[in-house]
Amino acid sequence: MKRIAIYPGSFDPITNGHIDIAKRACQLFDEVVLAVAQNRSKNPLFSVEERMKLVSESTTDLAKNHTIRVESFDGLLIHYAEQMNAKAIVRGLRAVSDFEFEFQLALMNRKLNSSIETIFLMPSEQYTYLSSSILKEVSRLEGKISDLAPPCVENALKEKYAH
Ligand code: ADP
Repeated sequence: MKRIAIYPGSFDPITNGHIDIAKRACQLFDEVVLAVAQNRSKNPLFSVEERMKLVSESTTDLAKNHTIRVESFDGLLIHYAEQMNAKAIVRGLRAVSDFEFEFQLALMNRKLNSSIETIFLMPSEQYTYLSSSILKEVSRLEGKISDLAPPCVENALKEKYAH
């Protein structure tokens, strides 16, 4: 049986921090599904199609040696994970500030389905302060983001903020 993990997120847009976590997940599972949450209530900057495209483009190298799928989902994450036959849900932990919300989410998901584990992975130190929101803010104010996101994301942000 293939060990499938879901790595869900808004990915609005994907950053080097997300890619770091995806790489680590690929070392542990046979297949990693990067699941882009529609999250209409969060008012994303990029449409779900744009976010999926950026996730795919940013993971082409990783996809050469690992089985990766980029999908979108709506509704309850645990239902989506069941539908995908996933063994685990992968989440990234940056600082203590992520912990409380992630802990709550993981325990709720366990209550809904105890056979799907949530696995927390820590990114490389240089990405512990990085979030999609801060990336957008720096880009909007024309700061340098080339160390924080792949070139396709950098260009997509420039284009968004040019309008
Ligand atoms: P969500 O809206 O689900 O939090 P995000 O796209 O912001 O979606 O994040 C998806 C997951 O990736 C979360 O588990 C988040 O903690 C993690 N993550 C986001 N940025 C980083 C980063 N720089 N390093 C490690 N994990 C991260």
